[in-house]
This record gives sequence, C-alpha cells and structure tokens, in this order.
Amino acid sequence: MAKVAIGAGHGVHTPGKRTPAGEREWSFNNKVVTAAVRHLKKYGIDVLRLDDPTGKTDVPLTTRTNKANNWGADILISYHHNANNGRWGNWGGTETYYYPGASTGLALAKAIHPSIVGVMGLRDRGIKTANLHMVRESRMPAILIEGGFMDSTIDIKVMRDDDNLEQAGKALADAIAGYFGIRGQAKPSKPSKRASKSISKMADEVIAGKHGNGHDARRKSLGITQAEYDKVRKEVNRRSGIKTASKPKGKSIAKMAQEVIDGKHGNGHANRRKSLGVSSSVYNKVKKEVNRRLTGKSAVYSKPKSFSVGQKVTVKKSASKFATGESIASFVKGNSYTVKQVKSDRVLLDGIMSWVRKKDVY
Ligand SMILES: [Zn+2]
Repeated sequence: MAKVAIGAGHGVHTPGKRTPAGEREWSFNNKVVTAAVRHLKKYGIDVLRLDDPTGKTDVPLTTRTNKANNWGADILISYHHNANNGRWGNWGGTETYYYPGASTGLALAKAIHPSIVGVMGLRDRGIKTANLHMVRESRMPAILIEGGFMDSTIDIKVMRDDDNLEQAGKALADAIAGYFGIRGQAKPSKPSKRASKSISKMADEVIAGKHGNGHDARRKSLGITQAEYDKVRKEVNRRSGIKTASKPKGKSIAKMAQEVIDGKHGNGHANRRKSLGVSSSVYNKVKKEVNRRLTGKSAVYSKPKSFSVGQKVTVKKSASKFATGESIASFVKGNSYTVKQVKSDRVLLDGIMSWVRKKDVY
C-alpha cells in the first residue's frame, strides 16, 4: 500500500505566518491538507499527517521529517501558502519546490504541480529548487507546494473560498493517486476544467474579452450555472468599480511604486513626488519599494520579476540582444511596449513582436 506523509506548514499561532489582514497561513494549509487526506484514504492510500491537525502546536521541522523517515513514507508533501513582503500587492501564483538535484523530487513535482495550478487558477510560477528542510531531510521523494500568496490581492480571493481549498486538496490526492498508478477508488465525477475555474479567473477572462459580449453568451462560453455567472459578474463589476474609484491620495506604497516603475510619474525624484502628491517621507517609502522591486533584494527567495500579458514595459537602455540572439535596434531601447506573451525568462512585446529577456525590461 502506498504511504503518503503530508503536513500543513506551521501552526495556527506561528508568528508572522499570516495575511496582512491577520488570517493564519496554517488555516489555509490545513483546509487543503484535510481535504487531501480524506480523498487519499478513498484511494486506499495510507496517510501520516506530519503537522498537528488541531494547529495548536507548530510541530518542529525535524520532528516532521523524522516521523516521515521512521514510518517509511513513499513520498512527502508539505503544503504552504506564500508571502512576498507581508503587505498587499499584485504579485502571486502557485509554485512547487524540490531539493536541488533530486530527480525523484522533480518527478513528483511534475506529477502534482500542474493539478494545483489548474484548480487554483493563479499564475503558474513553476517548479523550482530550494534548500528547504522538508525536502532536504526527508529520505523519500519530497515536495513543498506554495498554493498562492497570502499577501496577494489576487490570490487571497481564491484562497478565502473554502471550496477552492477543498478542490486543491482533492486535486492533490488525485494527482498522488496518479503518481502511484492507482485508479478508481475515488468518486469518478471529476469536475470539468471549466467548472473548477475560480470566480476570480473567470472574471479575468471576461474582462479580457475572452467570452464575448452579452451575459447569456458569456455564461454559455464559460459553461457555468446562472448562480455561478452572477458571482463572476459581481466580481467583474467590483473590479471596474475599484478602478474608477481609485483616488490619487490614499494609494498604497505598493501601487505608487508600481506606477513609478511603469513610468507614470516621469523622471527625477522631485517631479515624481509632486506628480504623486505625497510628502517626502511617503515618497522615500515609495522609493525604497521601487528599489526593492527593481533589485529583488529582501525577497524571501530570489524571485524572477513578474510580468503579465497586457502590461506596459520599457526596454532597458542597457539591453543589447533579443532573447533570440539578434541585436536590439537602438530605437527600441527606452521605448515602451505591451506584453503579448510571457515565458519563464522572456516576454513577447507587441509592436516589435520580439522576445526580450525579462532582465532587459522594467
Ligand atoms: Zn509557510
């Protein structure tokens, strides 16, 4: 019988591990893990839970890996939710870690990561390596999943819907069963890809015009019930409401920093500060955040810069070659273009229809 050791990261009282609104990381992790355990058992898989299911104790990492090793688990899954800087921002996505060089960890990650991405409907940050205790000290193939960002205004909407966390747990169990080649024990009624899309993702698509015009046509294109469509519509309206209601004052540091990076406030600190209409002390915070974002310093892991389709970016003056090797013409440098497509290390820019490395744009 397949043996799976699985744990929700941290405990409910672990300091720091919470959203900017105070919700606990363990609670999100626990909902996914609890659902996964239930579904794994339906497959007849033996499960050992590594964290305290009441959340009261943050079981030390060494205790967790010792438990899994002594029990002789076949695989280990550690489930977490990510954080960037603990303040709300528009970063986000799902990522999965394995120990550097561990090919069995990579194979496990490949078997599971796409399912979690599919259910959460968030940005796919990919499969990565990191020297983390849970994947290093376990003797079996091990992965650590970060379902979404607790300080992401995008991800938190998905994470706050218990149904999404339940679906992530089920998807995790299904993928684990698939990894072991086990079939059939769980209920065969797998939700269709469309039905499992989050409200947030469907709203994105509607805003992006992927489902045409007219409510009935959109609902059919999305393949959802009227009740679900009403939720999507509400979310679409809510988002457009936020955009038109945003006042220049009271903007978050993160938002102002992004605008500065996007070039919306011109050049020179004095000009930018005036354009933003903020005090010097507030502007200094914005400046710090801009530098942090541009250099990637003080991030938890060194994360690649994130770009999204539709975003305007500027080609750095220092850039010399396109991602495909050709030289970048001088008129392109310093010019701004809209991102048409995003790949791991490059973006496709509209207008010039060329791939430029992420490090060469800002
Ligand atoms: Zn965590």
